Amino acid sequence: MSVILQATVISKVYTLGRSGEYQALKDVSLTIEQGEFVSVMGPSGSGKSSLLYCVSGMDKVSSGSISFAGLELDQLTEKDLAELRLQKMGFVFQQGNLLRNLSIIDNIVLAAYMGGSLKRADINQRAIELMQKTGILDLKDKDISQVSGGQMQRAAICRALINQPDMLFADEPTGALNLAATSEVMQILTTLNQEGMTIMLVTHDAKVAARSTRVLFMQDGQIVGEFKQGPLTSQADLPEQDGQLEQADLLDQSDQRDQADQPEQADLLPKTGQLDQAGLAQQSVLKARENSLSEWLAEQGF
Ligand code: ADP
Ligand code: MG
Repeated sequence: MSVILQATVISKVYTLGRSGEYQALKDVSLTIEQGEFVSVMGPSGSGKSSLLYCVSGMDKVSSGSISFAGLELDQLTEKDLAELRLQKMGFVFQQGNLLRNLSIIDNIVLAAYMGGSLKRADINQRAIELMQKTGILDLKDKDISQVSGGQMQRAAICRALINQPDMLFADEPTGALNLAATSEVMQILTTLNQEGMTIMLVTHDAKVAARSTRVLFMQDGQIVGEFKQGPLTSQADLPEQDGQLEQADLLDQSDQRDQADQPEQADLLPKTGQLDQAGLAQQSVLKARENSLSEWLAEQGF
């Protein structure tokens, strides 16, 4: 594995009006390897967004250094830094930040047109593939006021991916979504990571962080804890000791499966794939991971 992002003893001091300064990051060091899916958790105001914005070059650090894909960010001109962000980094925010009065597809392709290195036909083709992959192809010509929050976030993910970045940064991407939409968006991010995309994501939701390979816990401008849980696989990494916890879930679902075997009941069941074996296995693995992570977070005082 090779390092994609390295932050070395970075600090971030915000200058406030009359009241002086506030140090949001205090000598934070962080290394992210290619292919990792890192979640950042911690109380509100602990510096999670500041960390994400600083390591991605969206904001300047007050001291320390950051290298991304072998480039020292503080040695780049503003123009080269903007180009690096546009071409090599994808961003997803809590609110989609899509442009009103533009269709979904136009929002997605805009960043690639700005990039200027690809043919328009290729960009459009790529946008269509991304929309297909995230399940929003039928919405491509809709205005963003006509789609749900979850659909908007899926479009925001397509936009973030249009230039084929090396890494995706997401600040509370599910913060404004309901449970179902959260799960859809997270399934997309999980698949992307399983295909090799490096992801750094800020969240306060253990259900969301349960999908990442490593969780950092921040407090008062510092990373104070780290929880490694490895890649999410669909089965076989169910911890033995959590067997009891899972039994209840699996029982529920095996009930559904029994019903599905009876033809007269089968049609009454939702056809959303809950009965699919791999999906079931992944759900129970996720539940076990969420439980272990929640325990760890409780130990951190979260
Ligand atoms: P989190 O994302 O964990 O909620 P932030 O990184 O947004 O935390 O903020 C960390 C601290 O820095 C907070 O106390 C916040 O008020 C302060 N802060 C964030 N952005 C600014 C800013 N632009 N100017 C001044 N203070 C800021
Ligand atoms: Mg924040």
